[in-house]
Amino acid sequence: MGRDVPLGRLFGVKVGMNVSVLLVAALYAWILADNNFPTLVPGLSTAAYWVAGVAGALVFFLSLLVHEIGHALVAKDEGIGVRGISLWLLGGVARLESSPQTPRAEFRIAVVGPLASAACGALLLSVAYVLPDHGHWALAGHACAWLGVINLFLAAFNILPAAPLDGGTVLSAIVWWRTGNQTAGIQWAARSGVLVGGVLAYLGIRQMQDGDGSNTGIWILLVGGFIAVNAWQQLKAAPMYQLLSGSTVANAMYPDPPTGFASASVADLLRSLPRDTHHQAYPIMGDHGRVTALLTASAIRAVPQEHWEQLKVSDLAYPLDRVTVVRSDEPLMAAVQRIDGGDVRTGVVVDPTGRLVGTIDAEALFQAAEARRAHLHASGA
Ligand SMILES: [Zn+2]
Repeated sequence: MGRDVPLGRLFGVKVGMNVSVLLVAALYAWILADNNFPTLVPGLSTAAYWVAGVAGALVFFLSLLVHEIGHALVAKDEGIGVRGISLWLLGGVARLESSPQTPRAEFRIAVVGPLASAACGALLLSVAYVLPDHGHWALAGHACAWLGVINLFLAAFNILPAAPLDGGTVLSAIVWWRTGNQTAGIQWAARSGVLVGGVLAYLGIRQMQDGDGSNTGIWILLVGGFIAVNAWQQLKAAPMYQLLSGSTVANAMYPDPPTGFASASVADLLRSLPRDTHHQAYPIMGDHGRVTALLTASAIRAVPQEHWEQLKVSDLAYPLDRVTVVRSDEPLMAAVQRIDGGDVRTGVVVDPTGRLVGTIDAEALFQAAEARRAHLHASGA
């Protein structure tokens, strides 16, 4: 995945876009202008179809943005900082600075996304309804109707009670609220995800067998399979959840990682590391003693050694808006889930005052679970 192209700020939230969005938007615009619109509203000029196609693709991504802004604004309302929103290939993601601490906060942040999509859908369909049904108005009307239906579909899909969809988080929050047990919530969302994903995959296969010539069946199968496999992996990790419930990030992180400066060469940074270091990620510090980026050992290894002298740390390091920052006092499982959802699989750990205290990845989690198991074993539990 490439870097985000910054688009600016909306309600104080940084918005970025993956370059893949441009490709997909161009594809949508082309399909609409060349195929859908000429069939639906025949007899208009090619230019008119293209204006409507480009506008349609634009409004589609704007409505995805509305969905994510919804998550971001409610998170802010719950006192959770938002690092930014990025749009990518198939949707978007709002990156939060920490996990919700109460089921109420988790519920509100998750449920507002599908609600925002549903509101977009209703609005667009209303516009389509009031527009006159002739000439260029008809074209605008059909574009709005298409976008309205897509938004209603997105709302319905996202509210399916299956992790990792918003509906899975909603279910998880409800179970957490009813039982007081966050782990139970995550487990129910995973079970439900296996079921919902399985049903979708089955429906996809049925659709393919009926063979109406469209690709719908394959898509439903793929999406269902993706949800089911994801949820299944989460279920398999359930014993670990149990073992680590109550643990915080501080219990598992790699403390006191070696740090570097953006202007240094990669070779200099490597020379400054202690010989026997087990650290695989190096936070990069700015002028005010704050972390500004993260360089990983795997990013260094991906570049041939002869370039290490010339390459600057800043050329290879991931800027902080691509790295998940977690707090040392956050619940461990929720924090690691958030890191796994990001595109850099190592997180930076700060204490409640924002000072760097460590790094953490999935491997640290397994080690913590192993240590905990050994401890329970030794104490005869
Ligand atoms: Zn969402």
